[in-house]
Amino acid sequence: MRQLKPVNVVIAGGGWVGLTMAKEIASRTSLSVVVLERGHSWKEQYATGMDELDFAFRYRMMQNIAEETSTHRHSLKSSAAPIRQYGSFNPGTGVGGAGEHWAAISYRYPPEQFTLAAFLQNRFGKARLPEGLAVQDWGVTYDQLEPYYWSAEQLMGVGGKAGNLNGKKIDGGNVFEGPRSHEYPLPPHKQTYLTTEFEKAVRGLGYHPYPIPAATLSRTYTNPDGVTRPACAYCGYCTRFGCMIGAKAQPSNTLLPVLQKKKNFELRTGCWVRRVIHRDGKAEALSYIDAVGQETVQPADIVIVASWTLNNSRLLYLSKIGEPYDPATGKGTLGRNLTHQVGVQTRMFTDKTLNGFMGAGALGMGIGDYDWNQGIEAFPGVLRGGNIRAMGSGEGPISSFGAIPQGTAKSDWGSQWKKAALAWHDKTTNIVSEADHLSYRDHYLDLDPTYADKFGDPLQRMTLDWTDHERAQGAMLAQIHNQIAKAMDMRTGGATRWLDKYTVTNYQSTHVNGGAIMGTSPDTSVVNPWMQHWQMPNLWVMGASAFPQNSSGNPTLTILAVTLRGADGLIDKYLKRPGALL
Ligand SMILES: Cc1cc2nc3c(=O)[nH]c(=O)nc-3n(C[C@H](O)[C@H](O)[C@H](O)COP(=O)(O)OP(=O)(O)OC[C@H]3O[C@@H](n4cnc5c(N)ncnc54)[C@H](O)[C@@H]3O)c2cc1C
Ligand code: SF4
Repeated sequence: MRQLKPVNVVIAGGGWVGLTMAKEIASRTSLSVVVLERGHSWKEQYATGMDELDFAFRYRMMQNIAEETSTHRHSLKSSAAPIRQYGSFNPGTGVGGAGEHWAAISYRYPPEQFTLAAFLQNRFGKARLPEGLAVQDWGVTYDQLEPYYWSAEQLMGVGGKAGNLNGKKIDGGNVFEGPRSHEYPLPPHKQTYLTTEFEKAVRGLGYHPYPIPAATLSRTYTNPDGVTRPACAYCGYCTRFGCMIGAKAQPSNTLLPVLQKKKNFELRTGCWVRRVIHRDGKAEALSYIDAVGQETVQPADIVIVASWTLNNSRLLYLSKIGEPYDPATGKGTLGRNLTHQVGVQTRMFTDKTLNGFMGAGALGMGIGDYDWNQGIEAFPGVLRGGNIRAMGSGEGPISSFGAIPQGTAKSDWGSQWKKAALAWHDKTTNIVSEADHLSYRDHYLDLDPTYADKFGDPLQRMTLDWTDHERAQGAMLAQIHNQIAKAMDMRTGGATRWLDKYTVTNYQSTHVNGGAIMGTSPDTSVVNPWMQHWQMPNLWVMGASAFPQNSSGNPTLTILAVTLRGADGLIDKYLKRPGALL
């Protein structure tokens, strides 16, 4: 085993979270910072090495699930099976993590999300809440996070239109959002034919359309760190690809340009972290297998775990840090409050050519009239809603081919189907929704008793299923999709929900949350609101693993806001007086 010289800070994971922490610490202090990333850099391939088959269908940039995956079971009584093909979520790997191939949709969460337990009780009364609900407050409020949201928006160059500026509601933005202290750093994207038609239709129905907040730059932009990136070229090869011109905010084009100039920063790739080494309530080092397969120990004064939701919990489990959650008793904290997201899509067909090949991952129009707390009165059993969007994300030649209206061909192969697929090509699209996913007592993470990764370490086991609440959310959103499709004069091919049983094979989103949640008490959370481990003050566990439940909006902007606040806690408070901040 190779024992390295100590550094001040060692970070597991080189995605948005790990590299944001590295940037904050290496820029604002003279501490030495090492990031250990299991993958390698993808950037060199963006200009010439990407194609749709390899990247979008064979998931080139995702975690290699032959080496490490998760197992899933629906309930405490069922047995778990390993996820052997990419399905309901796609963990990233390599420098920048999933932040390299994300879509860059950059929502804020609504104010009540951070105090949702109290909010739901006040609104519905305890008796109307489902049994086993485990929704919890975050220990931080929207008002406390607002300056950090603004910093994250400036860091990435988010474009959009404010719908609530310091409490003043503004038509054209999302009027249901929480108050913003500033207009977006950039204006919204140009819209496509589809999203313009969506906007007209929903306005006609009395809803409130807004442009989707996007970190795919609508203009050339220089952020507060002095990093300049060009405007989006609407190439359409965005989600599941790295941006070849750097218009999409990615850790490699937003954080690394700053970090690479710092002498106190080092990025080590091909380094697979296996344990946090600790003694007497203090984290001492990360142990990892390096790029040539050598077992290595990197001692540090401060250890930061930033390896994405599922990996964060697993690393704590494998390192025997914290008390594992027991759903039978409700005791223990590690692994609790696993959530995903409720997805609904409605296929639509039109006579018009949509030119869907042009677009950007985050280009779109949405409504918030059935999101969060809005519009749910008419739908008994629904406690939280979801956004409704038409996206011009860019359709590749393979992914956009083959959808035809029901009954047009006898089968989904053969000459009749090919003829229909050609006739309907570029005349079909989706309305999409993502809804809040509430946390439940029986949904959690632990170590699988049977299956192991390539090193022989137990895999993470997910226990998760949909409940009647998610099915009611899905039915509500499908009904509104249908209404909008009619108003757009489009023929619908029906809504897809996959909400009967949770399925690991159909993509929902890579917005998996929980397992090492934040909160106000060590009895019910793993980290405090600064993301500092309750029992180990020099250990910080960061990312969406800390979210006690999931909101409808994509999480990364909130992940960054919470991370930036955590960085302030570490730098401005912990370094001055090392120890527990609360
Ligand atoms: C296809 C797709 C589209 C998405 N679109 C959006 C969107 O539009 N908006 C949005 O808000 N979010 C989106 N997301 C989610 C977003 O990418 C994540 O929220 C974000 O990347 C999380 O950042 P992170 O740093 O916590 O984790 P990651 O980006 O996953 O980074 C974690 C890093 O840790 C490394 N790592 C893991 N385990 C180890 C280990 N044991 N040792 C060393 N390194 C390790 C990984 O290789 C990875 O590089 C999308 C995700 C995907 C896959
Ligand atoms: S659509 Fe725009 S942001 Fe996305 S990859 Fe292409 S140029 Fe980059």
